[in-house]
Amino acid sequence: MCERVTIDDTIPNIARIYDYFLGGTTNYPCDRELAEQLLRVAPEARTMARDNRAFLGRVVRHLTARGVRQFLDIGTGLPTQENVHQVARRIAPATRVVYVDNDPVVLAHADALLAGDRAVAVAEADLRRPAELLAHPAVRRLLDFDRPLAILLVGIVYFLTDTDRPSDVVATLRDALPPGGYLAMSHVVSDGRSDLLGRAQELYRGFLRRGGDARRTRAQVESFFAGLELVPPGLVYVGNWRPEAETADPLDRSGWLLGAVARKPG
Ligand code: SAM
Repeated sequence: MCERVTIDDTIPNIARIYDYFLGGTTNYPCDRELAEQLLRVAPEARTMARDNRAFLGRVVRHLTARGVRQFLDIGTGLPTQENVHQVARRIAPATRVVYVDNDPVVLAHADALLAGDRAVAVAEADLRRPAELLAHPAVRRLLDFDRPLAILLVGIVYFLTDTDRPSDVVATLRDALPPGGYLAMSHVVSDGRSDLLGRAQELYRGFLRRGGDARRTRAQVESFFAGLELVPPGLVYVGNWRPEAETADPLDRSGWLLGAVARKPG
Protein backbone atom coordinates (compact mmCIF):
# COMPACT_ATOMS: atom_id res chain seq x y z
CA MET A 1 0.00 0.00 0.00
CA CYS A 2 3.01 2.33 0.37
CA GLU A 3 2.69 3.39 -3.27
CA ARG A 4 -0.28 5.48 -2.12
CA VAL A 5 2.00 7.94 -0.33
CA THR A 6 5.27 9.61 -1.04
CA ILE A 7 7.42 9.07 2.01
CA ASP A 8 9.78 11.91 2.76
CA ASP A 9 12.68 10.29 4.56
CA THR A 10 14.48 13.60 5.12
CA ILE A 11 11.96 15.19 7.50
CA PRO A 12 11.49 13.59 10.93
CA ASN A 13 8.04 12.24 11.58
CA ILE A 14 6.20 11.99 14.94
CA ALA A 15 5.01 8.41 14.42
CA ARG A 16 8.41 7.14 13.24
CA ILE A 17 10.24 8.79 16.18
CA TYR A 18 7.81 7.06 18.54
CA ASP A 19 8.36 3.80 16.65
CA TYR A 20 12.12 4.22 17.21
CA PHE A 21 11.59 4.72 20.96
CA LEU A 22 9.46 1.56 21.02
CA GLY A 23 12.23 -0.42 19.33
CA GLY A 24 10.46 -0.66 15.94
CA THR A 25 12.06 -0.66 12.50
CA THR A 26 9.76 1.74 10.64
CA ASN A 27 12.03 4.74 10.99
CA TYR A 28 14.77 6.54 9.04
CA PRO A 29 18.11 8.17 9.95
CA CYS A 30 16.45 11.61 10.23
CA ASP A 31 13.95 10.20 12.77
CA ARG A 32 16.66 8.44 14.75
CA GLU A 33 18.81 11.58 14.78
CA LEU A 34 15.99 13.69 16.19
CA ALA A 35 15.05 10.94 18.65
CA GLU A 36 18.64 10.87 19.90
CA GLN A 37 18.60 14.66 20.29
CA LEU A 38 15.42 14.29 22.34
CA LEU A 39 17.06 11.64 24.47
CA ARG A 40 19.95 13.98 25.20
CA VAL A 41 17.42 16.54 26.48
CA ALA A 42 15.25 13.96 28.28
CA PRO A 43 16.95 10.56 28.71
CA GLU A 44 13.72 9.16 30.20
CA ALA A 45 11.81 9.72 26.93
CA ARG A 46 12.36 6.17 25.69
CA THR A 47 11.12 4.62 28.92
CA MET A 48 8.15 6.96 28.94
CA ALA A 49 7.25 5.98 25.36
CA ARG A 50 7.33 2.30 26.30
CA ASP A 51 5.36 2.91 29.49
CA ASN A 52 2.87 4.87 27.40
CA ARG A 53 2.37 1.97 25.00
CA ALA A 54 1.95 -0.44 27.91
CA PHE A 55 -0.58 1.97 29.48
CA LEU A 56 -2.60 1.86 26.24
CA GLY A 57 -2.70 -1.95 26.40
CA ARG A 58 -3.81 -2.01 30.03
CA VAL A 59 -6.49 0.61 29.35
CA VAL A 60 -7.92 -1.46 26.48
CA ARG A 61 -7.87 -4.64 28.57
CA HIS A 62 -9.51 -2.85 31.49
CA LEU A 63 -12.28 -1.35 29.36
CA THR A 64 -12.91 -4.51 27.35
CA ALA A 65 -13.23 -6.46 30.60
CA ARG A 66 -15.91 -3.93 31.60
CA GLY A 67 -17.95 -4.48 28.48
CA VAL A 68 -16.64 -1.89 26.04
CA ARG A 69 -16.78 -3.29 22.51
CA GLN A 70 -16.04 -0.17 20.48
CA PHE A 71 -12.93 1.98 20.41
CA LEU A 72 -12.09 5.20 18.59
CA ASP A 73 -8.29 5.38 18.72
CA ILE A 74 -7.22 8.90 17.72
CA GLY A 75 -3.53 9.42 16.90
CA THR A 76 -2.98 5.74 16.51
CA GLY A 77 0.64 5.84 15.35
CA LEU A 78 2.37 3.24 13.21
CA PRO A 79 0.94 -0.22 13.74
CA THR A 80 3.21 -2.06 16.13
CA GLN A 81 2.72 -4.99 18.45
CA GLU A 82 -0.37 -4.97 20.66
CA ASN A 83 -2.59 -2.75 18.55
CA VAL A 84 -5.96 -1.90 20.10
CA HIS A 85 -8.05 -4.45 18.17
CA GLN A 86 -5.53 -7.23 18.87
CA VAL A 87 -5.55 -6.54 22.62
CA ALA A 88 -9.34 -6.18 22.84
CA ARG A 89 -10.14 -9.23 20.74
CA ARG A 90 -8.28 -11.54 23.06
CA ILE A 91 -11.08 -10.77 25.51
CA ALA A 92 -13.94 -9.90 23.13
CA PRO A 93 -13.47 -11.08 19.53
CA ALA A 94 -16.33 -8.94 18.20
CA THR A 95 -14.74 -5.63 19.26
CA ARG A 96 -14.89 -2.88 16.64
CA VAL A 97 -12.10 -0.32 16.30
CA VAL A 98 -11.63 2.80 14.19
CA TYR A 99 -8.06 4.01 13.98
CA VAL A 100 -7.61 7.72 13.21
CA ASP A 101 -4.48 9.59 12.22
CA ASN A 102 -3.62 12.56 10.03
CA ASP A 103 -0.29 11.15 8.83
CA PRO A 104 -0.38 9.45 5.41
CA VAL A 105 2.56 7.25 6.41
CA VAL A 106 0.61 5.86 9.36
CA LEU A 107 -2.52 5.41 7.26
CA ALA A 108 -0.70 3.45 4.57
CA HIS A 109 0.82 1.05 7.10
CA ALA A 110 -2.47 0.64 8.97
CA ASP A 111 -4.39 -0.01 5.73
CA ALA A 112 -1.94 -2.75 4.85
CA LEU A 113 -2.22 -4.39 8.28
CA LEU A 114 -6.00 -4.28 8.41
CA ALA A 115 -6.97 -5.06 4.83
CA GLY A 116 -9.99 -7.38 4.78
CA ASP A 117 -10.97 -6.86 8.43
CA ARG A 118 -14.56 -5.59 8.37
CA ALA A 119 -14.71 -4.76 12.08
CA VAL A 120 -11.72 -2.44 11.95
CA ALA A 121 -11.30 0.72 9.89
CA VAL A 122 -8.70 3.38 9.33
CA ALA A 123 -9.82 6.99 9.01
CA GLU A 124 -7.79 9.92 7.80
CA ALA A 125 -8.86 12.81 10.01
CA ASP A 126 -7.35 15.57 12.11
CA LEU A 127 -7.94 15.87 15.85
CA ARG A 128 -7.93 19.65 15.41
CA ARG A 129 -11.25 19.30 13.56
CA PRO A 130 -13.15 16.97 15.91
CA ALA A 131 -16.61 17.48 14.39
CA GLU A 132 -15.28 16.38 10.98
CA LEU A 133 -13.49 13.49 12.63
CA LEU A 134 -16.68 12.28 14.31
CA ALA A 135 -18.59 12.61 11.04
CA HIS A 136 -16.05 10.55 9.08
CA PRO A 137 -17.88 7.79 7.17
CA ALA A 138 -15.75 5.03 8.70
CA VAL A 139 -16.51 6.29 12.21
CA ARG A 140 -20.24 6.44 11.48
CA ARG A 141 -20.29 3.06 9.75
CA LEU A 142 -18.52 1.09 12.45
CA LEU A 143 -19.27 2.82 15.75
CA ASP A 144 -22.63 3.18 17.47
CA PHE A 145 -22.53 6.25 19.71
CA ASP A 146 -25.58 5.03 21.64
CA ARG A 147 -23.69 2.03 23.00
CA PRO A 148 -20.64 1.73 25.33
CA LEU A 149 -17.70 3.23 23.54
CA ALA A 150 -14.23 4.47 24.44
CA ILE A 151 -12.34 7.35 22.87
CA LEU A 152 -8.57 6.99 23.17
CA LEU A 153 -6.34 10.07 23.05
CA VAL A 154 -3.10 8.40 24.02
CA GLY A 155 0.07 10.35 23.28
CA ILE A 156 -1.51 12.91 20.98
CA VAL A 157 -3.11 15.93 22.71
CA TYR A 158 0.29 17.42 23.57
CA PHE A 159 0.89 17.86 19.86
CA LEU A 160 -1.98 20.37 19.80
CA THR A 161 -0.87 23.91 20.51
CA ASP A 162 -2.99 26.35 22.48
CA THR A 163 -4.08 27.98 19.21
CA ASP A 164 -5.65 24.62 18.29
CA ARG A 165 -7.99 25.13 21.31
CA PRO A 166 -7.41 21.69 22.84
CA SER A 167 -10.04 22.23 25.57
CA ASP A 168 -12.73 22.76 22.93
CA VAL A 169 -11.44 19.81 20.89
CA VAL A 170 -11.60 17.43 23.85
CA ALA A 171 -14.99 18.85 24.95
CA THR A 172 -16.44 18.03 21.52
CA LEU A 173 -15.27 14.44 21.90
CA ARG A 174 -16.53 14.20 25.50
CA ASP A 175 -19.93 15.47 24.38
CA ALA A 176 -20.08 12.73 21.74
CA LEU A 177 -19.61 9.99 24.32
CA PRO A 178 -22.72 8.10 25.36
CA PRO A 179 -23.51 7.81 29.10
CA GLY A 180 -21.27 5.04 30.38
CA GLY A 181 -18.71 5.81 27.67
CA TYR A 182 -15.03 6.37 28.46
CA LEU A 183 -12.28 8.84 27.62
CA ALA A 184 -8.66 7.73 28.03
CA MET A 185 -5.73 10.09 27.63
CA SER A 186 -2.04 10.41 28.27
CA HIS A 187 -0.36 13.80 28.24
CA VAL A 188 3.04 15.21 29.17
CA VAL A 189 2.97 17.81 31.94
CA SER A 190 5.30 20.70 32.62
CA ASP A 191 4.98 20.90 36.41
CA GLY A 192 8.50 21.35 37.70
CA ARG A 193 9.95 20.44 34.30
CA SER A 194 9.06 23.45 32.24
CA ASP A 195 12.59 24.08 30.89
CA LEU A 196 13.13 20.49 29.86
CA LEU A 197 9.75 20.24 28.16
CA GLY A 198 10.33 23.57 26.46
CA ARG A 199 13.57 22.29 24.90
CA ALA A 200 11.96 19.00 23.84
CA GLN A 201 9.07 20.85 22.24
CA GLU A 202 11.47 23.22 20.51
CA LEU A 203 12.95 20.17 18.74
CA TYR A 204 9.50 18.95 17.65
CA ARG A 205 8.43 22.43 16.62
CA GLY A 206 11.43 22.65 14.31
CA PHE A 207 10.00 20.02 11.99
CA LEU A 208 6.29 20.32 12.76
CA ARG A 209 6.63 23.96 11.66
CA ARG A 210 3.79 25.13 13.83
CA GLY A 211 3.88 27.88 16.41
CA GLY A 212 2.11 28.03 19.74
CA ASP A 213 2.82 26.47 23.05
CA ALA A 214 1.70 23.07 24.25
CA ARG A 215 3.21 23.17 27.75
CA ARG A 216 0.41 22.14 30.09
CA THR A 217 0.18 21.60 33.81
CA ARG A 218 -1.33 18.68 35.62
CA ALA A 219 -4.34 20.86 36.47
CA GLN A 220 -4.86 21.67 32.80
CA VAL A 221 -4.72 18.00 31.85
CA GLU A 222 -7.17 17.19 34.65
CA SER A 223 -9.56 19.76 33.18
CA PHE A 224 -9.76 17.73 29.95
CA PHE A 225 -11.82 15.21 31.96
CA ALA A 226 -14.38 17.78 33.18
CA GLY A 227 -17.79 16.26 33.87
CA LEU A 228 -16.43 12.69 33.79
CA GLU A 229 -15.65 10.35 36.70
CA LEU A 230 -11.99 9.37 36.91
CA VAL A 231 -11.46 5.63 37.20
CA PRO A 232 -9.09 4.84 40.13
CA PRO A 233 -6.20 5.58 40.51
CA GLY A 234 -7.03 8.82 38.64
CA LEU A 235 -4.43 10.87 36.79
CA VAL A 236 -1.02 9.30 37.47
CA TYR A 237 2.27 8.55 35.76
CA VAL A 238 1.30 6.17 32.93
CA GLY A 239 3.50 3.42 34.37
CA ASN A 240 1.55 3.60 37.61
CA TRP A 241 -1.91 3.27 36.06
CA ARG A 242 -3.11 -0.15 37.25
CA PRO A 243 0.21 -1.96 36.70
CA GLU A 244 -0.42 -5.66 36.15
CA ALA A 245 2.89 -6.98 37.41
CA GLU A 246 5.72 -5.67 39.49
CA THR A 247 8.63 -4.88 37.24
CA ALA A 248 12.07 -6.15 38.13
CA ASP A 249 13.46 -2.94 36.73
CA PRO A 250 13.05 -0.17 39.32
CA LEU A 251 11.81 2.56 36.98
CA ASP A 252 11.46 6.13 38.08
CA ARG A 253 7.71 6.18 38.50
CA SER A 254 7.57 9.94 38.93
CA GLY A 255 7.68 10.63 35.20
CA TRP A 256 6.02 13.57 33.56
CA LEU A 257 3.72 11.67 31.23
CA LEU A 258 0.39 11.33 33.00
CA GLY A 259 -2.53 9.13 32.03
CA ALA A 260 -6.10 8.60 33.13
CA VAL A 261 -9.36 6.94 32.16
CA ALA A 262 -12.68 8.56 32.94
CA ARG A 263 -16.30 7.50 32.57
CA LYS A 264 -19.25 9.60 31.52
CA PRO A 265 -21.88 9.27 34.24
CA GLY A 266 -25.23 7.79 33.43
N1 SAM B 1 -1.56 6.44 20.30
C1 SAM B 1 -0.35 5.70 20.01
C2 SAM B 1 0.28 5.27 21.31
O1 SAM B 1 0.09 5.97 22.30
O2 SAM B 1 0.97 4.25 21.37
C3 SAM B 1 0.62 6.47 19.14
C4 SAM B 1 1.00 7.87 19.63
S1 SAM B 1 2.14 8.70 18.54
C5 SAM B 1 3.23 9.40 19.74
C6 SAM B 1 1.17 10.15 18.07
C7 SAM B 1 0.34 9.97 16.81
O3 SAM B 1 -0.58 11.09 16.72
C8 SAM B 1 1.15 10.01 15.51
O4 SAM B 1 0.84 8.91 14.71
C9 SAM B 1 0.72 11.30 14.82
O5 SAM B 1 0.70 11.19 13.40
C10 SAM B 1 -0.68 11.49 15.37
N2 SAM B 1 -1.16 12.89 15.33
C11 SAM B 1 -0.49 13.99 15.76
N3 SAM B 1 -1.27 15.09 15.59
C12 SAM B 1 -2.44 14.66 15.05
C13 SAM B 1 -3.65 15.32 14.66
N4 SAM B 1 -3.77 16.64 14.78
N5 SAM B 1 -4.66 14.56 14.16
C14 SAM B 1 -4.54 13.21 14.03
N6 SAM B 1 -3.41 12.53 14.38
C15 SAM B 1 -2.37 13.25 14.88
